[in-house]
Amino acid sequence: MNRILDVNEKLAYVVVEPGVTFFDIYDHFQKHKINLWISVPALGWGSVLGNTVDRGHGYTPSGDRQHFIGSMEVVLPSGDILRTGQWAVPNSPSAHACSNSFGPQVDGLFLQSNFGIVTKLALHVDCAPASFMNIKVHCPEIEDISPLIDALQQLDREGITQNHAMITNINHFASHDAPKHAQQSVPGPLTPETITKLKEKYQTGYWRGSFDLYGPKELVLARWARIEGVLKEKLPTARVENTFYEGENGKPVDNRKIGTLSAGIPSMSPISLADYNLPADGTGAGAHVDTTLILPCSGKVVLEWFRKAKYIMEEQGVDPFIGCHVFPKYILFVQEYVFDKTNPRHREGGRKVVDALLTEAKNVGFANYRSHIQHMDAVQDLYGFNGHIYKRFVETLKHAVDPNGIIAPGKQGIWPTKKAGRNREGKM
Ligand SMILES: Cc1cc2nc3c(=O)[nH]c(=O)nc-3n(C[C@H](O)[C@H](O)[C@H](O)COP(=O)(O)OP(=O)(O)OC[C@H]3O[C@@H](n4cnc5c(N)ncnc54)[C@H](O)[C@@H]3O)c2cc1C
Repeated sequence: MNRILDVNEKLAYVVVEPGVTFFDIYDHFQKHKINLWISVPALGWGSVLGNTVDRGHGYTPSGDRQHFIGSMEVVLPSGDILRTGQWAVPNSPSAHACSNSFGPQVDGLFLQSNFGIVTKLALHVDCAPASFMNIKVHCPEIEDISPLIDALQQLDREGITQNHAMITNINHFASHDAPKHAQQSVPGPLTPETITKLKEKYQTGYWRGSFDLYGPKELVLARWARIEGVLKEKLPTARVENTFYEGENGKPVDNRKIGTLSAGIPSMSPISLADYNLPADGTGAGAHVDTTLILPCSGKVVLEWFRKAKYIMEEQGVDPFIGCHVFPKYILFVQEYVFDKTNPRHREGGRKVVDALLTEAKNVGFANYRSHIQHMDAVQDLYGFNGHIYKRFVETLKHAVDPNGIIAPGKQGIWPTKKAGRNREGKM
């Protein structure tokens, strides 16, 4: 189960089995000189199929991976094999190009799901562009996240931006360079003095936004001109920088020269984030647990939420560790709790932070899009409209397709019925 089954360079898709990693696809494109880019997540070692069905995201224009599924092959609990989209049409030449069905769309039933095992996935990827530009926006103050998000939203409405922007706060990106003890000797969250020092060291602000442009040079430069204008108007105190790359002799740009996630280059370097709060004596084991909420793409709402999250995290003596993924209409707001998993106090702090964030999220109507297995029931409870009709409906489907509750009972808070003897109360 680790084969790359098909690559279609013209229609820009790949067909993979579950074990294929982002590194594997990248290496395959390089080896066979295929002018495609795969949208990698922060860590390249994961499974392309696993990341897609978990609603993961990469950083190129096709980063919102779940919406770039071409087709799937699924083994159902009955043992039947199902194919979705045009792959359900025998011998269809559009099998991997079009996910439309005739009737209800069922590929979504296998995302974050315990209805079947996906054995093959067709995923649409990006064409290597003729040129590429990375844009970074350094915003000095905490409040600047509000106009930054509104500016990005405006640029999306105008059809200017192409991939989702990633906004991180200062300790998040500083963590890729050095652990906390190297940045501050006093315990607790970063002090205003340390934040000032880090801003100078990394020549940045409290927030750093990053996004990219792809395509023919004329279009990239035209988009850039509009972006520069909007950012100057909305964020007069921000520093904006860009880096431009162009392919040679009419060929697409070589992403190895760019070297970033947003150019489809897989990496393992972001894993250093997990070691950020380890002690200076070299002991401990780095870990992180995140609470990623879906917020609307509105600067005011995000700033208000950030202030609450900051307070909740600082109460536990840790920094608000934020990665804010700005999609056109919504935001995936990642709040990382980075800790030493050998330290019982850190572990307890993590539980308190997640519980407090979920409680506050419920008060304002936010919910997670993904979660650690430990919190799946709590997150599912946030989807409570009409007596949890969503959960009741999906559990009805679960019972219909898997009456014995064989596959991943309780995944995403979806449990088999009591009759199957594997329900939440029975705990298997
Ligand atoms: C520092 C750090 C940064 C990260 N950054 C990102 C990021 O930028 N973007 C992002 O998306 N993620 C990110 N992650 C999360 C991580 O990379 C993902 O969890 C990973 O991509 C999932 O791949 P996996 O191989 O672990 O999948 P798995 O854990 O194998 O699968 C994920 C889920 O899919 C289900 N699944 C897997 N295979 C099948 C199958 N064949 N049929 C049905 N269901 C299946 C599993 O039940 C599981 O719940 C980050 C993690 C860390 C530690």
